[in-house]
Amino acid sequence: MALIDDAARTYELDRRHVFHSWSAQAGLDPLVITRAAGSYVWDGEGNRLLDFSSQLVNTNIGHQYPDVVEAIVEQARRLTTIAPQHANDVRSEAARLIVERAPGDLDRVFFTNGGADANEHAVRMARLVTGRPKVLSRYRSYHGGTQTAINLTGDPRRFPNDAGNAGVVHFFGPYLYRSHFHARTEAEECERALAHLEQVIELEGPQTVAAVLLEAIPGTAGIMVPPPGYLAGVRELCDRYGIVLIIDEVMTGFGRTGAWFHSATEGVVPDLLTFAKGVNSGYVPLGGVLIGDRIAEHFAQRPYPGGLTYSGHPLACAAAVAAITVMDHDVVVENALGIGQEVIAPGLAQLAERHPSVGEVRGLGVFWAIELVTDRDTRAPVAPTGGGSPIMAEAVRTAKSLGLLPFTNSNRIHVVPPCTVSPQEAQEGLDILDKVLSRVDDLVDE
Ligand code: PLP
Repeated sequence: MALIDDAARTYELDRRHVFHSWSAQAGLDPLVITRAAGSYVWDGEGNRLLDFSSQLVNTNIGHQYPDVVEAIVEQARRLTTIAPQHANDVRSEAARLIVERAPGDLDRVFFTNGGADANEHAVRMARLVTGRPKVLSRYRSYHGGTQTAINLTGDPRRFPNDAGNAGVVHFFGPYLYRSHFHARTEAEECERALAHLEQVIELEGPQTVAAVLLEAIPGTAGIMVPPPGYLAGVRELCDRYGIVLIIDEVMTGFGRTGAWFHSATEGVVPDLLTFAKGVNSGYVPLGGVLIGDRIAEHFAQRPYPGGLTYSGHPLACAAAVAAITVMDHDVVVENALGIGQEVIAPGLAQLAERHPSVGEVRGLGVFWAIELVTDRDTRAPVAPTGGGSPIMAEAVRTAKSLGLLPFTNSNRIHVVPPCTVSPQEAQEGLDILDKVLSRVDDLVDE
């Protein structure tokens, strides 16, 4: 009863005083979460929900992992905060653990508070190193909510923030299901997407392009795994034109795709790699830029003109050290890969067969999207890009009523449980999605 009373008070104060992200404030109805453990959260009425969202796709080790909680408590007792100009044991150790898992020569870390500011700094570095103004980024992407990051973003969240695009030019990436290049195979899509990017570079003037920035796999925009060779092709174009390659692994990094970093599995080493989220599962805000030799050398004798009060905050770094350590110990990255191959891939393939509203399922590891369509032939989405629809709202409502907290965007349900999810939990989520999709089929039929 106390829980319910507290939840009611939480809700009331939230509605009165908390200003929420990306929303018109009137009419919001936030779910009160009172506690969380592993793959589950509990709402204000005491209902348990399987967290198939990992919140904002960040709790890669699940909720309240005891060793990480303990490490934060222990660090708080020892040293809660210290300015970035000093050296600090957990910051040094977090940097070591991160660079050891990163590909190639990415062996320095500039710590930030999250993913958007990591991208802001990566772009600033690229512009300073090249002396060029423009950055190319993908349509159908998300890079963060700060000014440059939202301009880099290729989804409708950019539109209200777009004050003349801040030197950003967008291009199309590979997305075979809705191919911009009229391609019929992954190989064709890859080849044409690379030819398109090269044209954009040439027509913009390579001498004006500082960086190409792209997600290793676009996440919130739809989990479109690039065809084999695409990232390597982008690397090759950047080398040819002296452009800095920035890969955003904010969502894909630290286990999500069944690897520490997806770019590494593609054999690609960017000049700069941005991360956040899974580095410590968001237990304390942390992000950063991994820096390779080309950029590091530039700033060896020249000052880097940027910084943050909380760069490498000890509580965040202690959480990162503990999170990476438990991920190693409990083979969390391997678990994500195995669950993807053995449970989610076959499970989603069955759902796609059974439910006519499923247009496509795609992904890897614990990083999957289900595209919902009103018609498989026309591929018409059940909601517009960046918008909602009654069908999507009903899908979310049904999922929650059956005990599943989903991640949805536009016409998609993303299957993004923690990397620590067990086979039984993953199956439980798929069984609930089966029922949700039956409801969507009915609505599409009406
Ligand atoms: N880049 C990607 C790929 C993301 O998914 C996000 C957040 O969802 C960001 C950047 C921004 O990160 P943050 O919200 O920590 O600023």
